[in-house]
Amino acid sequence: MSTNIAVLGAQWGDEGKGKIVDLLTPHFSTVARYQGGHNAGHTVYVDGRKFVLHLIPSGILHPGVTCIIGNGVVVDPQALFKEVDDLARMGVDVNGRLLISEKAHLILPYHRELDVLSEARRGERKIGTTSRGIGPAYEDKIGRRGIRVCDLLGDRDALADDVRENVSARNRIIKETTLDWKPVYEQLLAFGERMRPWVGDVSLFLSRTMAEGKRVMFEGAQATLLDIDHGTYPFVTSSNASVGGVCTGLGVPPRAIRGVLGVAKAYTTRVGEGPLPTELSGELAERLRESGQEYGASTGRPRRCGWYDAVVVRYSARINGIDALALTKLDVLDGLPDVKICVGYRTTNGTLDEFPADLRALAAAEPCYETLPGWSRPTKGATRVDQLPLEAQRYIRRLEEVSGVECAIVSTGSDRTETIVKPDSVVARWID
Ligand code: GDP
Repeated sequence: MSTNIAVLGAQWGDEGKGKIVDLLTPHFSTVARYQGGHNAGHTVYVDGRKFVLHLIPSGILHPGVTCIIGNGVVVDPQALFKEVDDLARMGVDVNGRLLISEKAHLILPYHRELDVLSEARRGERKIGTTSRGIGPAYEDKIGRRGIRVCDLLGDRDALADDVRENVSARNRIIKETTLDWKPVYEQLLAFGERMRPWVGDVSLFLSRTMAEGKRVMFEGAQATLLDIDHGTYPFVTSSNASVGGVCTGLGVPPRAIRGVLGVAKAYTTRVGEGPLPTELSGELAERLRESGQEYGASTGRPRRCGWYDAVVVRYSARINGIDALALTKLDVLDGLPDVKICVGYRTTNGTLDEFPADLRALAAAEPCYETLPGWSRPTKGATRVDQLPLEAQRYIRRLEEVSGVECAIVSTGSDRTETIVKPDSVVARWID
């Protein structure tokens, strides 16, 4: 059986999944996205050229690799076309290599408007969404009034009925303006025609690909702590970013997933609202933000920064069955006098070792830190563990112990080449 693996975020997103997926892609025939929308933002540097991908898997940068957008993803056709056109301008042709599930739901032109309105109505309790209409598209999906990619390519009268119903649901929410369904319908027909060559049965394609013994990589967007079920609800995304999303979002059986690689930063960041136990403020937070360039790839928003939280990563490892970690951005910690790891939470009821469901408990939790000496010699660009300063090696070893997972990959810079893949690790075996 082929070694198909899932690569997903073990923290609150922006862990550098794009770089890790890009690095591993040459060992896979297919890369498949299973959830999320164009709120994701993967930044990949290839030969000094910067590519920012939102919807199409970053595997597209490798000639010959097929990229899949699964049914669990919500697709904004205009965002998709823009990405396809931008890639074409950079010399990357998606035709013949992009497959979009006919069952994927669409982000409709007014979902963005609903997103902005819903955030404004929440006031103080806003989620901090990217305002791209992702949440409202998933709401329509679950509310059973969504419009799917296949609906654009089938019976036109049925589509007209669906659009009429969906637009009237929109008009019931936004009373200030009334939207006419007809122009929406006509626009959707045109979108469908442009998408037609890329649309197909993703589950069938993957099943055949795997039966031929070819390797598939399942690519997660956002991350476990943003998962709609297992994340810090309600400050989460609207889909299953954790491993369960692979099966539902692509139509593949659990046994297809032979390994799970969790991606975690050597510290913690989050964008948007919600508790972040190890959050730092002041000079140190600024230092991490600047040297890690912690600004959202999709929105440019500054990310909140904190120390590595092993409670979070242990929790992610349990939820996803993480076999190994890719530890990214170690170089960002270069030059700090000491580094801290959160190993538990202090609460009024004693110490917590496990991540709590109740956000109030999380917000009140004080991190219990272990402090380790920092390193002055740079880790930047290291490609072997023995090139790392001893203090950095010790930091990684301690992270592995308290997180309960091996760091099979250590990333020491944004370029593909600035990476350590431990030769005797499970990842080395997967890609052998
Ligand atoms: P993703 O959504 O998980 O792919 O994360 P983002 O693309 O939003 O953020 C990752 C950013 O960190 C990108 O700009 C990467 O080029 C960069 N990056 C990835 N790995 C490393 C690393 O090891 N060191 C440094 N300094 N930057 C990295």
